[in-house]
Amino acid sequence: MAATPDLIVHSPNVNDRPVNGVTVIIHATRSGKSMNPTEFEGTLNYMKQAGTASSHWVIGPEGQKARVVEDNRQAWHAGADNDNAWGIEVCQGVESDGFTDLQYDALRDVCRGYMADFGIPAIHCRTSFQPGFVGHQETDQGKSFGKSDPGALFDWNRFIDSLMTEEPEVPTVPQPTLQGALVAMANAGAIMASGTGNLLNLSDEDKAALRWVVETAEGK
Ligand SMILES: [Zn+2]
Repeated sequence: MAATPDLIVHSPNVNDRPVNGVTVIIHATRSGKSMNPTEFEGTLNYMKQAGTASSHWVIGPEGQKARVVEDNRQAWHAGADNDNAWGIEVCQGVESDGFTDLQYDALRDVCRGYMADFGIPAIHCRTSFQPGFVGHQETDQGKSFGKSDPGALFDWNRFIDSLMTEEPEVPTVPQPTLQGALVAMANAGAIMASGTGNLLNLSDEDKAALRWVVETAEGK
């Protein structure tokens, strides 16, 4: 499933046909003003004007994720490659500004959406004609226009590694409470009193609560 946007902005600069490919192009916005405080808003305002440019996502310096073009339409981000690639613009005033941790996190979330929805592999593919993720400067189209984004400060290893790293498991059993322990003991008592029940049938939540009671009694 695609990442959840923090805001949605509509651009008239779209082709009303789907992307016919399996590549995602990473861009940097580069207004030319270092640490430009209005890089994010400025980019979005620019994309709202007819006849300029667009991308599927714009990622702000604080990791804000703006959805500009839906994934089933083409954005105007890479000339001939608009046909076969989705585009993500990461805000950066000038190349030496680098990228923030929050931007890497947001980019990971957005790109995992493409992996899930379109089967894009977690590969730095270095061309727009293979499945994976590629920098604009690495594509034939980008080279022909002298593009240098996202640039040398974009950490491809960090980015690709982040796509493959599993999210930490969220514990599904809530922390036991006294109330929960009393319920669990009552449930266990009922099973034992029935003479036929099996304590293995207790819920995971009850088992965790009973474990907590035992550990507490043992002073752990
Ligand atoms: Zn670009």
